[in-house]
Amino acid sequence: MTPILYLVIPCYNEEAVLPVTSGLFLSKITALTASGAISDRSRIVFVNDGSADRTWDIISGLCEKDSHYAGIALSHNRGHQNALICGLMECADFCDITISLDCDGQDDINCIDKMVEEYAKGSEIVYGVRNDRSTDSWFKRNSAETYYGMLKFMGVDIIPDHADYRLLSSRVIHALSGYGEVNLFLRGIIPQLGFKSSKVYYSRAERMAGSTHYPLAKMIALGMDGITSFSIKPLRMITGLGGIIAVVSFIGIIYIIVGAATGNTTQGWASMTCLLCFLSGIQMISLGVIGEYIGKIYLETKHRPRYIVDRIINIEEDK
Ligand code: UDP
Ligand code: MG
Repeated sequence: MTPILYLVIPCYNEEAVLPVTSGLFLSKITALTASGAISDRSRIVFVNDGSADRTWDIISGLCEKDSHYAGIALSHNRGHQNALICGLMECADFCDITISLDCDGQDDINCIDKMVEEYAKGSEIVYGVRNDRSTDSWFKRNSAETYYGMLKFMGVDIIPDHADYRLLSSRVIHALSGYGEVNLFLRGIIPQLGFKSSKVYYSRAERMAGSTHYPLAKMIALGMDGITSFSIKPLRMITGLGGIIAVVSFIGIIYIIVGAATGNTTQGWASMTCLLCFLSGIQMISLGVIGEYIGKIYLETKHRPRYIVDRIINIEEDK
C-alpha cells in the first residue's frame, strides 16, 4: 500500500517566502503521487505559529485552491520546536509518514524522494543531514562544529549536521507523544526513540525570501536547551571545579600559614582582590548553571500545554 505522506511545515511571519515555496511543495507531492511512491491523500500541512503578518491568509487561500494543502493555526507564537511538535501530533492519526521541513526552501525538497525510498526499505526515521556548510557564515560553521563537539562531550546523542528535516513514521510519532517535556529539543529526543533509522544527505540552500528567525541569541538559547535538557554533566563539572578550587585553596592556606610563621608576610592586597573576583565569578557562573536547571524543573512541573490549536483546515480522518 502506498503511504500517505504529510509534509509538516512550521511557518512564522513567512508571507514573503510562502508564495514562492508552496508551489514547489505541491509539485513534489504531485510528482511523487504520479510515480506511485505516495498516496494521493498526501498533504502539505502548514503550521502557522501565531504569525503577525499575512501568513495565515496565504495558507487558507492555498487550502481553498487545492485540497492537498492543509493548515493548522496555533493560537499564538510558541516557537519553531513547539509548532513542529504540534504539526506532528495533529497529523499522526491521519497519515503513515510525516516529513518536517522549513518553509523557506532551505531544505532540498528533492531529498523527499530518497526519504520515502528509505521508508519503503524499512526505516521509520530518516534524518536529513547536511553534507556541506558552504552556505553558512564562517561564524556559524565554526560555532556549529564547537557545539556538536560540546554535545558529544556532554554525552548527548544527536546526529551532527542534522536539524529538523526528517521523516518520521506515525508509529514513531506516537512513541514521541510520550515525551511531554516543555523544553523541547527534538533533535535530541528522536535518536533516543530507537526504531530503524537511516540518513540521506543534502546540501542546504539559501533562504528563498524573507529572513531567518534564529538570530544569535535564539540560537544560543536553543543550544543551551540542547545541553541542559539531555545532560547533567554541567552540574557535575561544577562539583569538580569546586573540588579543584578547594584543593588549591587548601594549598594556599598552608602557604599563608607557613609564611606567617616564618615572618614572611607581605601586604598582598592585589592578589587577594584578584582571587576574590575570580572566585566570585566562578560562583556566579555556577549559580547560573544550577539556576538553569531549576528553571527547567519549574517549567516542567507546571505541565502547561506546549501549544494551543486555534484552527485546522483540510486535515480529515481519511486514512
Ligand atoms: N519558525 C516558527 N516559529 C518561530 C520561528 C521560526 O515556526 O518562532 C519556522 C520558520 O517559519 C521556518 C522554520 O521555523 O519555517 C525555521 O526558521 P528559520 O528558517 O527562520 O531558521 P533558520 O533556517 O535560519 O535556522
Ligand atoms: Mg530556514
